Amino acid sequence: MQRCPRCLRGPVFARILSMNDTCPVCGWRFEREPGYFTGAMYASYMIGFAIVLPVWFVMLIAGASFAWIMGVVLALLALGFPVMFRYSRLLWMHFDAFFNGTEDEPGPPGS
Ligand SMILES: [Zn+2]
Repeated sequence: MQRCPRCLRGPVFARILSMNDTCPVCGWRFEREPGYFTGAMYASYMIGFAIVLPVWFVMLIAGASFAWIMGVVLALLALGFPVMFRYSRLLWMHFDAFFNGTEDEPGPPGS
């Protein structure tokens, strides 16, 4: 639903490719640290493969030429870019929130 990983209510994106800095509902900072979204690239690769592989196989079985397959795959990725961009960041944030929690500024261990 493209919502904040902490409160699940605040929208993450302000416009199609621009994120809110913090959750408008609970104030959760979406970019946890500089370079935080590097990890989202991995999610974006997975989404990209999930989109491209079935198309690739179907076209291969149908006997399409390599140039045709590449053309269709590149067009799909270009069209799907905003979707991949948004969902890869969302997946990453929810994944991180699930495993690392959503406490604000956890203190050092033992404090
Ligand atoms: Zn929130």
